[in-house]
Amino acid sequence: MIQLFDVLAHLNDRRIMISLPLVLARAAQAGISDILSAGVDPSTDLALPTSSFPRVHRAYGIHPSASHTGDFAALDQRLDEPGVVCMGEIGLDARENMPPLDVQIAVLETQLRIAKARDLPIIFHCVRAHGLLLESIRRAKIDVPCAVHGFSGSPEQAKLWMDVGCYLSFGGLVTRPAAIRCRRSAAYVPLAHMLLESDAPDHSPSGVGSSEPADILSIAHGVSELKNCPWSDVAEITHRNACTFLRLAECPFPS
Ligand SMILES: [Zn+2]
Repeated sequence: MIQLFDVLAHLNDRRIMISLPLVLARAAQAGISDILSAGVDPSTDLALPTSSFPRVHRAYGIHPSASHTGDFAALDQRLDEPGVVCMGEIGLDARENMPPLDVQIAVLETQLRIAKARDLPIIFHCVRAHGLLLESIRRAKIDVPCAVHGFSGSPEQAKLWMDVGCYLSFGGLVTRPAAIRCRRSAAYVPLAHMLLESDAPDHSPSGVGSSEPADILSIAHGVSELKNCPWSDVAEITHRNACTFLRLAECPFPS
């Protein structure tokens, strides 16, 4: 049976938590075997229950939108939880309603040092700040596996990330005909560099309602159409990539 990996969901978002058992049951039915659940603010993230199928792996980090609070003591505590395999979401977001970029960069660079010290893979959030984020990564001489989540940049930007060895994670946008730039990038990025994510509860494939891990199925089909390749290849290769990225031993598709 084909198994899919959702490398970024916010299972501890209140909108998901209220129906988490149903969300996980629908994910299992859709063939999702693994989910990476990422935090956004370690001082307020809700506690996650454990799940054996789909397996729920954990990531914690101070999201750029939470960088004004920057609670590193809370972050340290979260990263000690069992099941933590990754740091994230961390990164930069240059939109107007976000904290000032100098504050974001300071919080990001402290977290890059923590990820290095703990030898944790990193999943990045990056909006309109590709150059600045790549600069911080180079300055920090990052040697852990990295991925950019919710990639919607151009193929040229995708190449910059692949050049530093980063995976690019694609979500529901690839299934929307209007998301031309994102779809061009999904067609361009080789499967060997690609991951799939629901970003639940945001960014549903249809653009209406909320998303959930079960949506990975339609996202994998969307990618296979764009790349004109069997969807089982998309499922298997992105699953293997996720295991390599997160350094998980029990992968159903060992390389
Ligand atoms: Zn994000």
